[in-house]
Formats: sequence, C-alpha cells, structure tokens
Amino acid sequence: MNAIIAGLLCGCAGKSGNAVVATETVSEQLPAAKVLPFNADSAYCLIERQLDFGYRVPGTESHDRCGEWLAAELAARGADTVIVQRGEVTAWNGDRLPIANIMGRWNPEAADRVLLLAHWDSRPWADRETDAVKCDQPIPGANDGASGVAVLLELARNLKAAGIEKGIDILLVDAEDYGTPEHASVWSEESEDTWCLGTQYWLENMPEFKGRTGKPAFAILLDMVGGYNAKFHREYFSNRLASKVVDKVWSAAAQAGHGDRFVNADGSPVTDDHVYLLKAGIPAIDIIECNNAETGTFNPTWHTHADGIGAIDRATLGAVGETVAQVLVNP
Ligand SMILES: [Zn+2]
Repeated sequence: MNAIIAGLLCGCAGKSGNAVVATETVSEQLPAAKVLPFNADSAYCLIERQLDFGYRVPGTESHDRCGEWLAAELAARGADTVIVQRGEVTAWNGDRLPIANIMGRWNPEAADRVLLLAHWDSRPWADRETDAVKCDQPIPGANDGASGVAVLLELARNLKAAGIEKGIDILLVDAEDYGTPEHASVWSEESEDTWCLGTQYWLENMPEFKGRTGKPAFAILLDMVGGYNAKFHREYFSNRLASKVVDKVWSAAAQAGHGDRFVNADGSPVTDDHVYLLKAGIPAIDIIECNNAETGTFNPTWHTHADGIGAIDRATLGAVGETVAQVLVNP
C-alpha cells in the first residue's frame, strides 16, 4: 500500500515540476512500514469454497475441479505467473494417482525468494475413526489441507498492493495425505515416504527449484492451521535443521501480537512436506498444530469426519495469517 502511494506522489511531482514539495512528501512516506492486511473471515470463506467441491482426493472429479479453481484464484489474486505441474505418482497400495502441483509466483525475477506452501488434497480415509465403516470413507479436510491453502490465498490477495519486493512463490502441493494408514498390514518404516508424494514429485521434476536459480532463501509450510485454540510449537525437524527460520517466524508472531499461540517450546517430529524440502537443502519449517493440549499430538479432529468447517476457528486463521504477513513485510 505504501509503495503505491509513494509512486503516485512521485508521478504528481514529475508533472508539476515542484521538486521541493515532492522531496518533503516522499521523505514523510519512507519510514512507514509495509502493511500486508489479512482478513480471517475471507480465509474462512476460502475453506468453505474448497469444501464445496467435495473431497479433494487425487483421481476424482471433485479434486480436479478444485485444482482448476485454485490455479484460477492464484492468477486472479495477482500472481505474475501460475505453473501447474501435472504428473503421476504411485501410492502405497499401488494406486496410480494423477496429481497437480500448483504454483503462483510473484516477482519471478527476484533473486531473494520465499516459498510458502500447503497441501490442497484431502485424505481418502478417516483412519482415526474407531468405527471400521467410517474408517474407509474420505474426510472433509477443512483443517487438514484446506486451512493452509485458505491462509495462503488470502495472503496472496494483497501481495501486489503491499509492494513487497522479494520474490514470493505460493505452492499448493498435491497428494500429501495419501500415506499408508497406520493399521494397514503393509505398514513399515518405509511407509513414511508414502506421504508428501506431490512435494517429492515437485522436487524430482523441478530440479532448477533447488538449484542456483529460483531456490528460496527459506520456506514456510502451513498445515492444520485452523483448529480451535490451536497453539504452534517449534516442530522438531524445523527446529533441528532450520532453527533460524523458526526464530524468524516465532519473533514475527510476537511482533504481530500472537506470541501466546506461537509457543517458544519444542514440538513433536512431524513427517510433512517440509521434510523433503529440508532433504533438498532448502531451509523449511512447518507451522502445524502438533502438540494439542488434549491429545498431545494433533487436533482431535485429525483424520476424522469431524474435520469439517465446524472444526475451524477464525481466530487461529487470523493468528497464522498475520504472522506470515509479518514475516513477509519484515526486511
Ligand atoms: Zn492429514
């Protein structure tokens, strides 16, 4: 917002030729910090929009329609380019899954880049349900999937107007949540790699992204960022391998007035998309509710049918959105 005002003032001064007025006016504008507004109600509506498509399970029509909508939304929200990477991956049970990783890029020429990501697929099973029939049915994925995407889309809406100079990539990855169910007979140590298939495909097939050009200085993954009274701890892998990024985000949370939610304490280890980015040499962290006060791990709605819109707390979305906005506007 500030950059646009400053630009208009410069333009006016050029026409009038009044250099003194221009200098005074612009210098008054310079100290003002950039502002990236975040509206939690808009983010909430963006979760509803995703749920309206139905289950976002790879290989289904509702999934594909949601993917098309997401690509269009990134463009409508001012991305300079939108890249849809289509591919096919093999799931733990042999299913061949057609997937789409969707990325919007802002300032694609900028060398100083930040990657923000979330998974947009939803889980085909509710393996935390105790009822065997319910177990085999897909979940709405309001918190697990749609919440991270919604926060990123809402941030995207104001990126251009905020005049942020650094390059920003918003990557919506597919097939994060098709991993081996805990109770499956084929479960083994290797099963960890049956998660995050979209991110693994992305890294294998977009080598330039981890190479000299386009490599982000750091990455922030949002996953399960809408639960009631959610608190975020310093997730184990993030803290161990990208502690400076954790420091940066947690201090931005304090600056934004959300230090109560971003707890400065160790969190549990979570296999999530950021782990593969870390393996590829990108400092990446996961903002995820992984130390729920009641369960000690994830939110009680995790991988259950209760993960619908009723599981979403606007205040949590606001805390996360304002924190990431603060990271982006900080120099
Ligand atoms: Zn999940």
